[in-house]
Amino acid sequence: MQCITRFAPSPTGPLHLGHAFSALTAFRLAQSMNGRFLLRIEDIDQSRARPQWEAQIYNDLAWLGLTWETPVLRQSDNLAAYSRALDLLWEKGLLYPCSCNRRDISAAASAPQEGAPLQGPDGIIYPGTCRPTQPPTGPRPYDVALRLDIAKATQEISHVEWDEAGPDCGHHSIPSSELITSIGDVVLARRDMGTSYHLSVVVDDAAQAITHVVRGEDLAPATPIHVLLQTLMGFPTAAYYHHTLIRDEAGKRLAKRDDARALSTYRDMGKTPADIREMVGLA
Ligand code: GLU
Repeated sequence: MQCITRFAPSPTGPLHLGHAFSALTAFRLAQSMNGRFLLRIEDIDQSRARPQWEAQIYNDLAWLGLTWETPVLRQSDNLAAYSRALDLLWEKGLLYPCSCNRRDISAAASAPQEGAPLQGPDGIIYPGTCRPTQPPTGPRPYDVALRLDIAKATQEISHVEWDEAGPDCGHHSIPSSELITSIGDVVLARRDMGTSYHLSVVVDDAAQAITHVVRGEDLAPATPIHVLLQTLMGFPTAAYYHHTLIRDEAGKRLAKRDDARALSTYRDMGKTPADIREMVGLA
């Protein structure tokens, strides 16, 4: 099987050294296996995505010396695919509408007898306020958030399993019952987007036949959700390569707003792509 990797930035700010490390790691992995490298623009959050950031992503990556296949998949052009995936999960009775806002969730999750609310990959684990006792029937609603009923979704799945190809290399296997307590009923369609990061990334990784998902270790807690969704939708599971993060001098993860470390800032200062590779330890 040919290796296919991808770099999947969101065009919500300038790419920084951490993105350069991630993109170069994915690119080199593909090259080392004589494989293919794809770029995907993750712009489902249209309130934050901007065309100028997308244009700058292409400039920065080309400047770094990367090449990728075209056309580039842009998630905002692919909403129908996410909608079809939601239809499938709705028909299986695994989704339910949720009208809670953040405040409702933290109030319900921090009832005095419960102690501090438990945190999952998306923040507070959903306390289940809107979860119905029977799966909803009828057509899927569109003007409301949809959550995955994780207890129901994991009923017939004993474990979620995947291979890690990165620093934490090996076979990972988690009893799916653990997902009920550590992840909870995640949102798969946000009311304002009609999809979510988890759903879109799983649909696209499958559609693009990605064999190695290369991304930062900050996204590792989302991997069990992604593997579960792949199992529910009949998609293959890729190998995951969660790389370490590039941090600032204080040990903090670099953020999009951290303009000082933007690739374009270094380029304007006269740094070369070779300097960047050296700065991220990939000389
Ligand atoms: N779009 C995500 C980000 O910019 C990356 C998603 C992924 O690699 O799974 O952080």
